[in-house]
Amino acid sequence: MCGIIAVLNKDNGANDITNVIIEALERLEYRGYDSSGIAYLDSINKTHRIRSVGRIEKLSNEVKSYALDKKAIVGIGHTRWATHGVVSVKNAHPHKTDGISIAHNGIIENYKELSSQFNINLESDTDSEVISQLIAKFMEDDLNFEESFKKTVSLLRGTYGIVAICEEEPNILIGAKKGSPLAIGYSVDQIYIASDAIALSSLSENVIYLQEGDIVVCKNNKYTIYDKDFKEVAREITNNIVSMKDITKCGLEDYMLKEIHEEPNVLLKTFENFENPVDIKKYKSLYLIACGTSHYAGLLAKYWIEDISGILVNVEIASEFRYRNPVLDKDSLYIFISQSGETIDTLCAMRNVIDRGFDTLSIVNVENSSIIRESKYKIRTHAGMEIGVASTKAFISQALTLLLLILEKNKIPTHKIAESMQSVIDMSDFFEDMAQKIRNSRTIIYMGRGTSYPISLEGALKMKEITYVSSEGCPAGEIKHGPIALIDTDVYAVILAPHDRYYEKTISNAQEIIARNGRILTIGSGRIQNHDSIEINNTGDIGNPFVLTTAVHMLAYYTAKSKGLDVDKPRNLAKSVTVE
Ligand code: GLU
Repeated sequence: MCGIIAVLNKDNGANDITNVIIEALERLEYRGYDSSGIAYLDSINKTHRIRSVGRIEKLSNEVKSYALDKKAIVGIGHTRWATHGVVSVKNAHPHKTDGISIAHNGIIENYKELSSQFNINLESDTDSEVISQLIAKFMEDDLNFEESFKKTVSLLRGTYGIVAICEEEPNILIGAKKGSPLAIGYSVDQIYIASDAIALSSLSENVIYLQEGDIVVCKNNKYTIYDKDFKEVAREITNNIVSMKDITKCGLEDYMLKEIHEEPNVLLKTFENFENPVDIKKYKSLYLIACGTSHYAGLLAKYWIEDISGILVNVEIASEFRYRNPVLDKDSLYIFISQSGETIDTLCAMRNVIDRGFDTLSIVNVENSSIIRESKYKIRTHAGMEIGVASTKAFISQALTLLLLILEKNKIPTHKIAESMQSVIDMSDFFEDMAQKIRNSRTIIYMGRGTSYPISLEGALKMKEITYVSSEGCPAGEIKHGPIALIDTDVYAVILAPHDRYYEKTISNAQEIIARNGRILTIGSGRIQNHDSIEINNTGDIGNPFVLTTAVHMLAYYTAKSKGLDVDKPRNLAKSVTVE
């Protein structure tokens, strides 16, 4: 969550860095969009700070109307996803104390303790401001900027990606990383620090990812990295693989729609690129640990893996797993699933398992992310960059990867499945019509049995994330144990009923809803008279969940569009959940 970009001009540098910062913030907006800001030093080393509530476009206009000093040589920018303190200009980053400006991603857990220990009166309500306050304080005590920064960082508890600049030492840009990602990039005339490679696309061909506890000091046209013990270290230089195609909408209206359209292709690409790093059959049981959509991919895989291999699968929510005291088995494989590879709860849950010496496997979409780096075995999914905040195509690649761990490739009819997914995408008119019918429902209940149950959870999550309509997923057989009480004419039930071994039972549950005046949409096989339905080609227990997933994604997307909502940036959410 939160996007960071920082730019330092080299000696021969192009002068106007504010454009570079604003353009990078536009690319980073999916990581947080409640407020944003930039701070830069002018030619006489005076700080200029512009902050604004709302979208980057607003900040960009304010920056344009600001009398810019074209000789600025160093600056930082931030898009915020508030954790501490309401969304306001006062709480927007960068925070500034005397001549020090900082931008921060993460949570400083001991900010109150530090404020009272060092007698600091915070001007904002954020946890982050304590960072600029401490650096400024230590500089008063005669430490230089770099020393003050290092001392400050050594006092912080929690998670951070930080960048900082200083009026007294204007030719230096400093950054630090713990728990939140931070990467360095460079061009002929500038050095950059950013929260992800997207910010650096079109700026830097190479990316250097900082590791836990690293500090980077950029000065004299170069960057120097120090590890957590302040020892100079070298970190790997990798190619920046984010392409322009990844960050454009390819002629479609929204990233989310583009990403749903990519789902059939993602299925094929994941299949082609899959290489198994570990024989899971040698383990007594598996733990699948994740958050949100990735957790549902794990739930789906449980049905497949237990059915096909007989290996016991435990599916865990990372934020619970990491804090309770789970009974763990050394003969199990612990599998961590995350789109971004930076999901903090999943990362910390994995570290707990690593500390106990057990085997870990990560399934992650983003190259070089913390989770993939730290796990013993690793598989990169091939969903491509996902920018829509609500995850779609990543789910497809995670689910197929988990299936491939256990099932031989020749038993998966990927082309047939991809064709069926495509035929769902081609039915956009149907989803548009359907959206009109369900958009004002008080509640939408998704239900299914077997592998359709995790997809009902995924459908409900997507619907609530982007339409704000209360939605829940439920095993169809459970409906009479509670959720059926919700049914009346204002409630829609989405019945996931492909032609599988549960079909007749699921349809009986649909009839129970109809008998109570509920309205239903069946997605799957056959139709119920006088009710809405969409037929999908039957691709069996393996294929149907993928096709149903595309259908529930389309339904959520068009419902949000019919309500005129910003599907790519739903309220209160942000991509890459790097805070707890
Ligand atoms: N905790 C900080 C705040 O609430 C940073 C949040 C972020 O990562 O955007 O301002």
